[in-house]
Amino acid sequence: MRILISNDDGYLAPGIEALASALAPVADIVVFAPDSNRSGASNSLSLDRPLSVQQAANGFYVVNGTPTDCVHVALTGVLDYRPDLIVSGINNGPNMGDDTLYSGTVAAATEGYLFGIPAIAFSQAEHGWAHIDAAARVARDIVLRRFDELRSPWLFNVNIPNLPYEQIGALTPTRLGRRHQAEPVIRALDPRGRPIFWIGPPGATRDAGEGTDFYAVANGNISITPLQVDLTHRDQLQAMSKAQSRGSA
Ligand code: MN
Repeated sequence: MRILISNDDGYLAPGIEALASALAPVADIVVFAPDSNRSGASNSLSLDRPLSVQQAANGFYVVNGTPTDCVHVALTGVLDYRPDLIVSGINNGPNMGDDTLYSGTVAAATEGYLFGIPAIAFSQAEHGWAHIDAAARVARDIVLRRFDELRSPWLFNVNIPNLPYEQIGALTPTRLGRRHQAEPVIRALDPRGRPIFWIGPPGATRDAGEGTDFYAVANGNISITPLQVDLTHRDQLQAMSKAQSRGSA
């Protein structure tokens, strides 16, 4: 199995190091990661400048771009083969509910999925890298599990509780929960007295009930959410189409 690994925390992050170390014994791995922390990059591509790829001392390929750039460049410009799987992470902190729309970790996996390759985004549900080796072991377990019940390609968002391996619960299929809207920006003044704004923290959970990713992780279980990319609101489309046809009748 040939696996392309990326992340959004950058090539020096302990999470990608742990993930690569856990997968290297069971697969042919190659790593393409951003040169700096690009958390929150979402699915952005760099269209206003060229990208460079350099190889770090540990063999990782380092790209001066976003997580999506990394996977895009690897797949279409550098690798002379098509990976069997794209794996992203392990992110420093959760990517649950609405976080998935902003996440660069999820975006790197999504880019592979858009190229028709199965992909998994891994996040550790607390910041700080405690028990990162346990999370990496969980990631390897999931990579080695076959998902024959699904038609390829598939895209999974996985959140792993921050616990020792023996205390981590079951792999639990979930839907995305929801958050309240984000906290307001934090205002400050720069050293020259001009106003600046820091993006505030994400909102508190709104739908964290049973069956959601929030609920699974809060109960010590591993959340796995199968994602799709089509944003079409089918109910509204249907209502709109009905109204249109009435109007033209
Ligand atoms: Mn991140």
